[in-house]
Amino acid sequence: ETHDVTKGTGRVITRFGAELLVRCDDKSTIRCAPKRKLENIACGDWVDWQSNPTGIARVDKIHKRKNAITRLTYRGKPRTIAANVDQLLIVSAWLPEPFWDLVDRYIIAAEQLGAEATIVINKQDLAEQYAKQEGWRALADYEKIGYKVLHVNTKDSTGIDALKETMSGKTNILLGRSGVGKSSIANKIMPEAAILTAEISESGEGRHTTTTADLYDLADDGYLIDSPGVRDYMPDNLDPIKLANGYIEFQPYLNSCRFSNCTHNHEPQCSVRQAVEEGEISTSRYERYLDALNNL
Ligand code: GDP
Ligand code: ZN
Repeated sequence: ETHDVTKGTGRVITRFGAELLVRCDDKSTIRCAPKRKLENIACGDWVDWQSNPTGIARVDKIHKRKNAITRLTYRGKPRTIAANVDQLLIVSAWLPEPFWDLVDRYIIAAEQLGAEATIVINKQDLAEQYAKQEGWRALADYEKIGYKVLHVNTKDSTGIDALKETMSGKTNILLGRSGVGKSSIANKIMPEAAILTAEISESGEGRHTTTTADLYDLADDGYLIDSPGVRDYMPDNLDPIKLANGYIEFQPYLNSCRFSNCTHNHEPQCSVRQAVEEGEISTSRYERYLDALNNL
């Protein structure tokens, strides 16, 4: 019996056990199984697939990744949970109170991934009551060094269009601590079609064994990759160099420090510290950097 082989490219929507759900270029969804050696395939990967008489197409190639979010399993093995991320949406709110050191840490993650970082402050309706001077100053610091800050309110949709525009054409993830409104934001920005996809993968066998995240199509030609493991992602294996590289406002000064291995802490003739003293670098950001350095 002959079998007409069809081939195509697509993007991995989710993975459960050894099985992949792939969104094809024509937006149809197919079930696939990766070739054995492609075991590290993850949500967000672009792949080549080929139909198979068994009904489950075979993925025989994974396209080169821009980046990948990796977590250590409880056995200490690295596992990719999402690939090809363009933008980190770093979500905070006025309540619970913002942790700026956490925002810094997510920015470091973005710089390490080579992804954009955008700060989203949710619960704008609570600003008048809960926002503090220090909070507004922190936001001004981020804007000054080039990060976009968006204020949103999921209750009345303030800022949601601007957020959608920022996400358009990109693969985005939402990050932030519990209670800031990530689920509420996800529900606001996802069209019904995406929620349908979630239901399809929900009904897939062994949904509970999902090892990566889920990819949702957004209305404006973009994607959201989401899962609990993505929402609280933190870069591991940070060292003083990687840490300083996560503070983009330090970059113009790094080559002028007296010592090439300067940690910008106690060393004499440190250009970064001098820039802090001259008001070129925010003192708060620098102090948070020192805290992070001391906690490495
Ligand atoms: P997550 O833990 O980050 O996913 O946060 P949720 O989306 O579950 O939201 C946490 C709480 O904040 C819920 O009680 C929401 O109703 C509330 N919340 C979300 N967005 C807003 C907002 O814009 N304004 C206010 N006042 N509350 C919000
Ligand atoms: Zn230095």
